Parts: sequence; structure tokens; C-alpha cells
Amino acid sequence: MPQKKANKIKYLYAFGKQTDGSARDRELLGGKGANLAEMARIGLPVPPGFTLTTDVCSHYYAQAHQYPRGLEKEVQAQIKKVEAQTDKRFGDVANPLLVSVRSGARESMPGMMDTILNLGLNDKTVEGLAVRTQNPRFAYDAYRRFIQMYGDVVLGVRPRNEREEDPFDQLLEQLKSTEGVSSDSGLSTEALKRLILSYKKLVKERTKKAFPQDVYTQLWGAIGAVFISWNNERARLYRQKYNIPADWGTAVNVQAMVFGNMGNTSATGVAFTRNPANGAHELYGEYLINAQGEDVVAGVRTPSPIQDMKHGMPDTYASIEKVAKKLEAHFKDMQDFEFTVEAGKLYMLQTRSGKRTGLAAVRIATSMVKSRLISEKEALKRIPADSIGSLLVPVFDAESRRHAKRIAKGLPAGPGAASGVVVFSAHVAEKLAAQGEKVILCRRETSPEDLRGMMAAEGILTLLGGVSSHAALVARQMGKVCIAGAGSLSIDYEKGQLITGDLVLNEGDAISIDGNTGDVFLGSLKTAPSEVTRVLSGLLKPEKSDVFQLFNTVMGWADKTRRLKVRTNVDTPDQAQQAVSLGAEGIGLCRTEHMFFEGERITIMRQMILAADAKEREASLKQLLPLQRKDFAGIFRAMGGRPVTIRLLDPPLHEFLPKDDASRKELAQVLGVTPGVIAERVRSLEENNPMLGHRGCRLGITYPEITQMQVQAIFEAAAQVMLAKKSVPVLVEIMVPLVAFSKELDHQVAIIRSTAESVMQRKKVNIQYSVGTMVEVPRAALDAESIAHTAEFFSFGTNDLTQTGLGMSRDDSSSFLSRYRDIEIVDQNPFATLDQSGVGQLVEFACERGRRGRKALKLGICGEHGGDPESIKFFNNIGLDYVSCSPLRIPIARLAAAQAVLNN
Ligand code: PEP
Ligand code: MG
Repeated sequence: MPQKKANKIKYLYAFGKQTDGSARDRELLGGKGANLAEMARIGLPVPPGFTLTTDVCSHYYAQAHQYPRGLEKEVQAQIKKVEAQTDKRFGDVANPLLVSVRSGARESMPGMMDTILNLGLNDKTVEGLAVRTQNPRFAYDAYRRFIQMYGDVVLGVRPRNEREEDPFDQLLEQLKSTEGVSSDSGLSTEALKRLILSYKKLVKERTKKAFPQDVYTQLWGAIGAVFISWNNERARLYRQKYNIPADWGTAVNVQAMVFGNMGNTSATGVAFTRNPANGAHELYGEYLINAQGEDVVAGVRTPSPIQDMKHGMPDTYASIEKVAKKLEAHFKDMQDFEFTVEAGKLYMLQTRSGKRTGLAAVRIATSMVKSRLISEKEALKRIPADSIGSLLVPVFDAESRRHAKRIAKGLPAGPGAASGVVVFSAHVAEKLAAQGEKVILCRRETSPEDLRGMMAAEGILTLLGGVSSHAALVARQMGKVCIAGAGSLSIDYEKGQLITGDLVLNEGDAISIDGNTGDVFLGSLKTAPSEVTRVLSGLLKPEKSDVFQLFNTVMGWADKTRRLKVRTNVDTPDQAQQAVSLGAEGIGLCRTEHMFFEGERITIMRQMILAADAKEREASLKQLLPLQRKDFAGIFRAMGGRPVTIRLLDPPLHEFLPKDDASRKELAQVLGVTPGVIAERVRSLEENNPMLGHRGCRLGITYPEITQMQVQAIFEAAAQVMLAKKSVPVLVEIMVPLVAFSKELDHQVAIIRSTAESVMQRKKVNIQYSVGTMVEVPRAALDAESIAHTAEFFSFGTNDLTQTGLGMSRDDSSSFLSRYRDIEIVDQNPFATLDQSGVGQLVEFACERGRRGRKALKLGICGEHGGDPESIKFFNNIGLDYVSCSPLRIPIARLAAAQAVLNN
């Protein structure tokens, strides 16, 4: 019988005249490779090439940096195809084919991995290129760029420390100064030849080997370096931030070079099919005449706006406009594309869905629905849930702005308003931010090495670069305020100074940056609410704000689609009102302890805690009662009949006590006791492990009079609001914290019900209420069935459930969690995004068991995870009824809940 032949894995996919892949092959070809294939398919001018798949990357890592057998031959065959299409030959002295070698993961990771251009040049082919193009200067410039890039990326010839300049740049600068020219383009061919010699000497000194002359050796060196760059520090950090799994790997694209630096009819640029900052429907981008692509992205030269091309290169501009239209119609999304014009002919080098600000995301999605390019559902999926939060971030207060001294203007690259102290390195930014300082990271230009500092900073200011420079791209994605290309400023890194004219700012001086306008101000400016926030709080008429209309439309679509209700965590009537304006459908958590910290209350509270006996304690509680009642009445009014979950006192009592001698003395005076008595009582309340100590329902069990007072205040407030002339309906939910045993809950519920009944009888009113519990320790989750016999609802306190489930302090974990994330023990901070496979299982188990105990059990979550899109998806999928989050996250939660339904 003939042997069945095993299916051979296809490791290489061509694009060009013959195209093997398509946009659907993203997993295999990476985003860049898949879209190159797709562009070639729809007839756009793509230089030919081929993609080594992510399977090759997986093989490379699994097999100790070995390639699959036979790959070498296949690569040679593909190169032959490219040769045929370009009519050039790889390594040919007379007519050399040059290629680029670029990374391309499934999700775009701008600037995080490595790229090599002009590969295929050596001491011989450079001469051929010079003759063939009749442009020796161009050929030698290409060769010196190649040695520099290859030397850095593949051969590791780089600065040896943070302060050292790039060693190739040093040689270039030296040469420019001896030649007496100010720009690279001023260097003659002869000078470039000398530069090449000194570059090669540098390589030899540093690597002990000559610069490789064999073009296939060059190619395999570059391919290997790109695969290795998948695991470099900045790529790992980026993956961590954006939750990109390490095992996806990158593809590698090898593509025939086209040249934007062949003279004044050549150019290179990047463009967006719409404005990525505000979403306007216009071609938006920039280009450089006579330059290679990396000059635009690296932000080394400041490019011209693409609109200028209308005059300088009208035919090319028209072609780009046509391509942009075709791309949007085909990909049905705003595209961010790279192009090169070689001697007047346009080539497409990349396209991908463009990153955009929250405002742009909302505007583009609504506009595309209007023009029927996409459906409402598709539009909802397009808006990153977190990004809608940027419509609610503050702007600078107009008055404060008017009086401020403007010291520079740059390009508005990431919206919002930020103030902070000037710092010049990522390292210092991180250090100061960890100490609680707000910092603005100022750099001539940013590179991917600055990522950590950018994450730590409030805002980023760069002197060079345009709207698509690294700083701008990354800042927009992180939602950071950013100004790029503030060219009138200069930075002296050595002295640590930011300079403009006579003004010199030192590290630590304050500035403010406005990412909506590009203005840089001296000092810290006051901020004011955003346009949407002003409409929501009645300061601006809705019809006067086009941004609000867009926001409202998207929220309307989300509300139609989602299943989860969205509630809020608030403690005051003002916050409740704000939350309702942002769409809160109830309060999921009112932490009553927060009400005890204000003004005179803290003294009465301290009196209550330090009471010698129950009688004294009751006397203080009597004083607290009217204060609590007033707060609750205000909240009920603000919520207008929506459910209000009020949690009984939770934190350990010593949190309320005076910490220093002066305030202890003051309290002693008020209470008429000696400071010694206070000190002794405080000592007696101290606990070694307060988070696991005398807190939660344990307080109400040992001091039932506290529970009784709080419940009385809640019901009297409800009665007051319902019986007032302008009656408002009230729906009360009383929640008992930190329950582990069903009997704890039974104990508290008995007090709650008897107190509630007595108030209702006394006030002759029937108040609709229910009683439930937080599920925030593993025992409660495991014993949920019996707890649900008493509890009418569960609200998952995932802050404490994560703390107790992982045995990891919610207050002391940052020291090791960042290391855990670095080495990928955990993908994300479990206190921000739910640990689904651990804590999530407890939640799921408790839901299932809880509903066994009570069919109609209501289920919600009020830990911080209630405002996190990824966690919301999980909560939707396991069937919770609602999530509850802080007011500003409500729109994010509404959108995330809709997306959870659409992506389920
Ligand atoms: C929780 O533990 O998740 C919770 C909401 O309660 P707190 O944060 O007040 O402990
Ligand atoms: Mg808790």
C-alpha cells in the first residue's frame, strides 16, 4: 500500500504577481504580511516579496534557534520569484536586488521589533547600484544606512550605556563637522565612501569580524535578528501592556526595496485615511521628500503635512487619495498606511487599522454607520471601551489658561491636559512617578526604549517628529497627553535643561501641556471639565456640543445591545448625581465609612470607638445618626428610585483613630480624658493584620448597636424622602460585608429586619428593601448555597476576594507584581483585571451554588474589576446581573458590556 504523505507545512507565502495569502491569514502572516497580501490582491502597487510565517518563529524558538528543514532552499526559490518580477538579482554586481526585512506580529506593535532596510548591498553591489541608478551619492548613502542598521540590529553595535550616543551617529556627526555641512544630505559621495570605511572599521573593532559581504549571510542574519527581537525587553513590555500572548510569535516580511531617497521626485510618508486625533474625514499624514521610511517614523526630521503634496507632487497626491478611498472601502475601517514614491511612482508598503484617540474612534464609527459602510454593531466593536474615557478627561481651565505663560507650541498628538515636573529620561520619570510625583517626560524624540517612562508620565513632550512619530503613536494608544514636534524648544541632556530663548527650565520645574491644542505652558495650570462633562452637568446645552452628540449616539447603541446593568460605587449625593448623568442604573456600593471622615464627624466617630462601654457608645451613635440620615436622604433623592446598595461599616476601627501625638492631644481635650487614656485605647485596638482582623460584619456582630444605628438612619432617610411633599421613590438594598459563615449573615439580618420593621411601623410607610451580602472571602464563595438561603443578593467584592483568594495583600503587592509581570508569571495585575482562572472560578462557583440556594438571587460585582473591560466580558459571560464601578468608568462599562454581548 502506498504510504500516505504527511501534509507539508507551508512556511513561506508570496505576495506580488502571485499572492498566496490574504487579510484572513493574520495569525500566520502577521498583520503586516496579511495586509500586504490583501493589497496585492486588490491591485494596489505593492513591491513583491514573501512572508516567513509565525510557524517559523515558533519552530525557531522551540528548536533552539534552528529553522525548519528545507527552509533555506524555499527562501532561495522565493528570492528568485522576486528577482523575476523586479528584473534585478540578489547579490548581482551589475543590477542588484535589495530587500527589506521587517517584523510583523498578529497585532501591530509599532517600533517594538527590528527592521533592516537596503539588505543586499556590499562593497561590490554598491558600485553596481551607483552605475545602474546613475546616482552614486544615493547608492553610497543607502550602503552606509544599511551598515548602520545592520550593525545595530544584527551585530549589536550600540551605545554601551544610557548617556553614550549611538556610535554610528557619532562618526556621522564627526564627519559632518569636518566637512563643514549641517545636514546628512550635504555630504558628498566621497565623504560617504569615507564614512562607510569608518563604519566598517567600527564593526570590525566591536565584533572582531568584518562586515558580512555575502548577501544570503546578510539575509539570514536579518531574519534571525527579527525573530529574536520578538523577545527583546521593549517588545515584552509592550505585550504585557496590551495583553499580547508570548506564543503568538512574529512573522518576517522580506520585500523588494523601493527608494524614496532617489532625488526630488521621490518621497516617503505615512498617512491616515481620516484624522486619527479628532476623526475628521480628511487625508491626514506627512511625508518627506528624498528620504527613507525610517526618517518619518523615527521622528528624526520633521516632515511636511501631506496636504503640501497637492502643490509639490499633485499627481502623486491624487494617486494617494485614490488609494486611501480604495483602502477604506475594502477594509471598512480607517487605515494607517505607509508609502514610498520612487521617481514619481507610488508604492504601498503597509496598511493597518489606524490607532486613534477616543474622540476619533467615536467620530469615525458614527460617520461610517451614517454612510452605511459598517453596522451599528460593528461600530460598537471598533471603539476600544477604555478609550471613551478620554472624552471625560479634564481640559485646562479657561481662566487659568488665559493667564498662563505659553512657552512653546507643538503638534497636538494625544488629547487631554497634563501638568507635572519636567524630566528628561524614562528612568527618572519612572523613579519620580513611583514617589507619587506627576511628571512630564521631555525628549528630543522618543524611542521604544522610553516606553516605561512614557507609561509613568502624565504627559509626553517631544521636540522633533510629527503626528505619526513613535511618541505620538504610543501616547495615543496609552491615552496619554502628548505634544510632538515642539521645535522652538531645545534640550540639553547633559545639564538637564529645557531651553527656549532666555528661559531655562531645570529638571523638577513645572510645566503644563495641552494635548488638544499643542500649547506648552510654564507652571501648573488648573484643569476644568471636558465638553461632554460640561453637557452632562448642565453647564453646556447638548445641542451646542457635537462631541456630546457623538458620545450620546454611541452610548445609545451600547445600551440597546448590552445585557449587564451598570451601577456605580459612590458615597455622596454629589457623586451619585454625577454617576446618574453618566448613565448609572443604581448604586452597587455605598461605602458608609467614607461618610465618617468629614469635619466634626470624625470626632464623634472617635468618641464612639473609644467609648468605655455600650452606653457611652450609644450616646455617640445617637449623634452620628442624624448625620448619616442626611447623607442617605441626599443619595436616595439623587438616585430617584434606582436601587441603592448600602454597605454596613467595613474597615477596622483603628483606621479612624488619630495617628500622631498632636491630634491625640486634641482628641483628649474634646473627650475630657488624658492623652494617656487615648494612647492606651488606640494601642488596644491595634492589630497585626488588620485586613484580616476585626472588620466587616465582625464589627456589627461585636457591636450590634452600630448596625442598628446605620439601619435606622437608612430607613428613616428613606421614609423622609418618600413622605416628603416632593416624594421620591426609594429602593434600598442593605449589604453586609466580609461574610464567611451563613450564621454571621443570619445574625446581622435579624438586626436589620427588626430595625427596618420598627422604623416602617413608626413612620407608617412601606419601604421596599432587600438584604444581601458581599462575597469577598473564599469561604463565602464555597458555602454560597447556604448563605443564599438568607441573602437576597450577592455582590462580589473582588478586591478582597483577590486579596484573600491569592493570599496577596491588595496594598503591598506592587513590589513583586511588576517582576511577576516582567517574567510573565501573571499576564496582568490581578487587582486591575480579574484573575479569571483563579478568582474567576470562585466567582463562577459562587454564582452557581448561590442560585441553587435561591433561584432569584441577584448577582453583581462592586470590586474595581467592575470597570475593567476584560473583566466585564467575563462577568457578562458567567451571567451576573450587573457590574458597579466608579462614575467616570460608567461609559466604559456600558460600552464594554455591549461588546461582551457582541463578542460572545
Ligand atoms: C471589595 O473588596 O471588592 C470591595 C468592593 O470592598 P472594599 O474595596 O471596600 O474592601
Ligand atoms: Mg472589601
